[in-house]
Amino acid sequence: MIEENNNSAIQLSAAATASIEPMVILQVAIDVPLMTLFDYLPPLDAASVEWTQGMRLLVPFGSRQRVGILMGIAADSDHALARLKRVDAVLDEQPLLAAVDLTLIGWAAAYYQYPIGEAIFTALPPHLRKKSLKSPQPPFPKGEEKPIDQSPPAPLLQRGEKEKPPLEKGGLGGFDEKKAGFELNPDQATAVSAIHAALGRFQPFLLDGVTGSGKTEVYIQLIAQVIASGQQALVIVPEIGLTPQLQTRFTSRLPGVTVVLHSALKASDRARNWEQATLGTATLVLGTRSAIFVPLPRLGLIVVDEEHDMSLKQQDGFRYSARDVAVRRAQLVGCPIILGSATPALETLHNAQRQRYDWLQLPRRAGVAQPPKISLLDIRQQPLRAGLSMVLRERMQTELAAGNQILLFLNRRGYAPVLICHACGWIGNCPQCDVRLTLHLSPRKFWCHHCGRVQPVPQHCPSCKSADLRMIGRGTERLEEELQPLFPDATIARIDSDSTQRRGELKRLLSAVARGEVQIVLGTQMLAKGHDFPRVTLVGILDLDGVLYASDFRAPERAAQLIMQVAGRAGRAERPGRVILQTRHPEHALLQSLLRSGYRGFVAEALREREDTELPPFTHLALLRADATDALIPMEFLSEAKRLALALPETEHIFILGPAPSPLVRRVGRYHAQLLVQCADRMRLQRFLNQWGGVLQKLKRGKDLHWSMDVDPILFS
Ligand code: ADP
Ligand code: ZN
Ligand code: ZN
Repeated sequence: MIEENNNSAIQLSAAATASIEPMVILQVAIDVPLMTLFDYLPPLDAASVEWTQGMRLLVPFGSRQRVGILMGIAADSDHALARLKRVDAVLDEQPLLAAVDLTLIGWAAAYYQYPIGEAIFTALPPHLRKKSLKSPQPPFPKGEEKPIDQSPPAPLLQRGEKEKPPLEKGGLGGFDEKKAGFELNPDQATAVSAIHAALGRFQPFLLDGVTGSGKTEVYIQLIAQVIASGQQALVIVPEIGLTPQLQTRFTSRLPGVTVVLHSALKASDRARNWEQATLGTATLVLGTRSAIFVPLPRLGLIVVDEEHDMSLKQQDGFRYSARDVAVRRAQLVGCPIILGSATPALETLHNAQRQRYDWLQLPRRAGVAQPPKISLLDIRQQPLRAGLSMVLRERMQTELAAGNQILLFLNRRGYAPVLICHACGWIGNCPQCDVRLTLHLSPRKFWCHHCGRVQPVPQHCPSCKSADLRMIGRGTERLEEELQPLFPDATIARIDSDSTQRRGELKRLLSAVARGEVQIVLGTQMLAKGHDFPRVTLVGILDLDGVLYASDFRAPERAAQLIMQVAGRAGRAERPGRVILQTRHPEHALLQSLLRSGYRGFVAEALREREDTELPPFTHLALLRADATDALIPMEFLSEAKRLALALPETEHIFILGPAPSPLVRRVGRYHAQLLVQCADRMRLQRFLNQWGGVLQKLKRGKDLHWSMDVDPILFS
């Protein structure tokens, strides 16, 4: 424990008080970048306060007042009592976070090497970070554990009365027959009954089911059971805005109150939904990453859908993985957790293979849908128009003539990714990042996709004044423009983050596609996420070679996931789908294994490669990042950090690589470098990071230098 130096201690007779009654030292977490708690004395008029973990307190800190969270109560302090300050006010009569929530956040803060106070305040919604005196009605009765529903889970929702289900039969758990689901297919029924049997205890499940295999149906039926037994369910999804139909699907089928939690909500809505969750009136919380920390007094089931998705990992500040925190939460609460995906992360599959997770498979599409057929199309030396080979164009004509829909995937937005001067070779780069500016024509802007800086589109070369500026490459905007003359009778819809800026626009485009008013849908990876396009019979993936050959060791995994996810959009109904993947590298081992034996085959190969190269999941990584406006400073800091690491007592089996400049060195005018730590044993790595973190905190450094630790990093830029 350390004490804030600027504190001018309240000198009142703290020591004298201690001699008459038992001393109360309040251990408080404060939103500051320090790994420690701070000791305070109770206010003088606090005789009646029942100190409970998780209460917010207003405390003097330096020259200002801060909101703190009471983490613990002790009888003694490492500091001289006379120097401790008193709490100014108690903001909550009842704790805002239950003990189990504090334990979870405390664990995550320690695991991800992030200051505990900042971690807690990241987990709280904005309205509770401020010093408002208003707090929700008591979610957790004083001095009691959170109420745990002891009743056994209600019987399963089962519609097929004739078929002898492998599950206990029973009523409909108090909701309408019309809300009841499909008759589950045997794979779904097996999954539901396995998870149902685990309600009330910790058990992780991997629900490994191809797109359209009915995973969501499995979630819904289990959540119905959880709700019927008086408990709450938490469903974490990568993005809610991208899948407007998801919420409706849950609410139309489930009784009780469903609330959503994500950062795009209006502050007042977010506050209200958070309150309903913490009070226990919400029966289902559907949220993005940050919702993993919302207190739920009767949590009975956690689902992480699309568990492979990168956006479940926070990429700045408190760099937690919502998926991994979710598993820990389920363990602390003692409930099952379902990790669902059509393309599980290699880490998760590894856990399933080693039987840490119970592996449930839905290998077939639910209902009548056929799986799509994927084929590679070698486009080397092929004439392309609008980036489409002749084979793909002809195929498109055939599908259009048959009245079918087509989906084209291009993972680049804007008009052109490069603007070059034909006279002198000048290229438009962002002045503050090592990134080319992307040309957008509607609206016209010259845009850094990294830092967001926008410049006017130049009319003449800034270097030689030539007017001969040429656009190289193709983004979705250009594809749309070039496609129309090739397919003059087709209605084309573009779906990317630019075309769906306006509120409601994505929903409008998706329903136009669903109604069949659109023949060709084109777009970026927004298309890969969660939407159904049942009338699509042909998917063209125009150019993934860039993704395949990216420098990051996870690039092939991400490419394989993207291909399978995009492919999974097609042919959901009676019409079978076909996927054509254009490439200049048809011999690529990953593409070959994907084609030959699907995602499963790719995974087997990729895991072998990871094992040979000692990469996750066979080892564990942490990345120490540093940046400054001077390129040398981060390298010097990291060299010193490495020297200090090697001087620590327990560095056996810890490997430190670097420092090296980051792949994208200059960003927003700052130079980035990194140091990679690798260890085969997670616990050993954790012990090392703890010691090292303490040393790094004390390391003297200039104001200009920023550093951060990323435990289990997934991006290395
Ligand atoms: P996933 O979440 O795996 O992509 P969904 O749960 O969305 O799959 O199911 C895909 C489609 O199949 C949906 O339209 C759903 O309504 C339907 N479906 C799911 N389960 C069944 C079933 N047992 N019988 C018939 N149709 C089903
Ligand atoms: Zn020029
Ligand atoms: Zn930039």
